[in-house]
Amino acid sequence: MTAAAYDVVVVGGGNAGFSAAHAAAQRGRRVVLLERGTAEMAGGNSFFTAGATRINHAGLPDLLDFIEPDERHDRTEVPPYSSQEYLADLVKVTEGRTDAELAGVLVTEAQDAVRWLHSLGLRYRLMYERQAYARPDGSYLFWGGLHVGNVGGGEGLIADHTRVAAELGTEVRYGCRATGLVVDNGRVVGVDVEQDAGQARLTADSVVLASGGFESNPQWREQFLGPGWGNAKVRGTPYNTGDMIAAALAIGAAEGGDWSTAHSVQWDAFTPDNESNRELTNRLTRQSYPLGVIVNRDGKRFVDEGADFRNYTYAKYGERILKQPGSIAYQVFDATLRPMLRSEEYDMPGISVVQADSLEELGRALDVDERQFVATITEYNASIDTSIPFDPTVKDGRAARVDPPKSNWATPLQTPPFYAYPVTCGITFTFGGLKGDVDGRVLDTSGDPIPGLLVCGEALGGLFSGNYPGGSGLAAGMVFGRRAGRLA
Ligand SMILES: Cc1cc2nc3c(=O)[nH]c(=O)nc-3n(C[C@H](O)[C@H](O)[C@H](O)COP(=O)(O)OP(=O)(O)OC[C@H]3O[C@@H](n4cnc5c(N)ncnc54)[C@H](O)[C@@H]3O)c2cc1C
Repeated sequence: MTAAAYDVVVVGGGNAGFSAAHAAAQRGRRVVLLERGTAEMAGGNSFFTAGATRINHAGLPDLLDFIEPDERHDRTEVPPYSSQEYLADLVKVTEGRTDAELAGVLVTEAQDAVRWLHSLGLRYRLMYERQAYARPDGSYLFWGGLHVGNVGGGEGLIADHTRVAAELGTEVRYGCRATGLVVDNGRVVGVDVEQDAGQARLTADSVVLASGGFESNPQWREQFLGPGWGNAKVRGTPYNTGDMIAAALAIGAAEGGDWSTAHSVQWDAFTPDNESNRELTNRLTRQSYPLGVIVNRDGKRFVDEGADFRNYTYAKYGERILKQPGSIAYQVFDATLRPMLRSEEYDMPGISVVQADSLEELGRALDVDERQFVATITEYNASIDTSIPFDPTVKDGRAARVDPPKSNWATPLQTPPFYAYPVTCGITFTFGGLKGDVDGRVLDTSGDPIPGLLVCGEALGGLFSGNYPGGSGLAAGMVFGRRAGRLA
């Protein structure tokens, strides 16, 4: 076994790991970042993202000095999103289970963390294509508290991070899998790794775990999330198998957050290569469901598609699909709604879709109870008060009064052709991880910090449970990565 010494070892080369590495390197620490993937497969889940980053801000003037110029800015409205609103959203979607201390830090430091990364060379922009509605007069209205994203999405984020790491002198080792923690006298003093079929020991003053959750580990999914979760499709990296969460638990770390729930979404059910697909990434998701209806194989609806803006429901509806017969459901739209679907997703090359000229024909073509399917849509159509104006930029209250109701954006499905998009459950990341304090110190089962061991990103449990406000995963990674790197 070979050995090497550093000040700081960061395990995991996603957004959280790079943020920790930059903060430590800025303080003059000698940093090595270990990434299990090869350079071609690196970047973790962060690579797969759209780069959407939820930050507190006071409206467009508060953003202009760190977002890329855009000729649309002068006809764009970006409603302010205060720390209080951010916190309220976290509390709402987690039904009060978010860790109050971690959440308090996230909602006050998210913008500052983006500004810090921008000062190092990361690039941000307004996400017109995902988070804004174009008004008929040519102006734009942003919605949902999520407005800023990385230039080039997740790929751009990782490219920028990698460049900055090199500039700051951080050594990045690809294809290097951490396998265990080295402990001396109760203090973590390094990690054991496997690389190039060999083994090595790296010693350091501090080890920062930024190695993600355990969503890519089907056995752990079955064990902790429940039966059936082994069948979920992995949206992002195949490497987040919980190695270092296990290693930390083995030396006495406490579990943090909710190990029984995960972020999961509606995902193309039948397209081949629908897991860890680095080219299609987010294009495999199907996020325009608030406009239409979702039915299961029994031909029945089972969620309120219009309960809230997509940002606040999308991360929990994957599980609802997983629990349907065959873990399959169909998103249904008609010709009126079809042009309003997100082009990036619904115009994906090779998309799974069934098209028909009548509801009866569509029911026959799908693997559903045909009579019930037609009855469901007919009853849904008849229950909508169409005198209420349809407006996708606000919660318009145009409801379908059926069971379950559709609370907003209900439109009768009556104009052929009709479209059905088969979806299954795509798992994004797990919410449970290690217990840490607000500076990322890993706590043991008595609540005391384990000397030398820090955690950030998905590996840090506590912020999310049951659901999640879109864009807060990247924000959390940079806020707590930066804090851990400042301490390391
Ligand atoms: C398709 C998709 C889209 C998403 N879109 C968004 C979005 O737009 N906005 C948002 O906020 N969030 C989004 N998310 C969630 C977001 O990806 C995560 O919250 C965030 O990237 C987590 O960052 P991280 O650094 O903790 O983990 P990751 O980026 O997953 O990085 C963990 C790294 O650790 C490495 N690793 C694991 N085990 C080891 C080991 N034993 N040794 C060495 N390395 C190891 C992995 O290879 C990986 O590179 C999305 C996720 C997916 C999958």
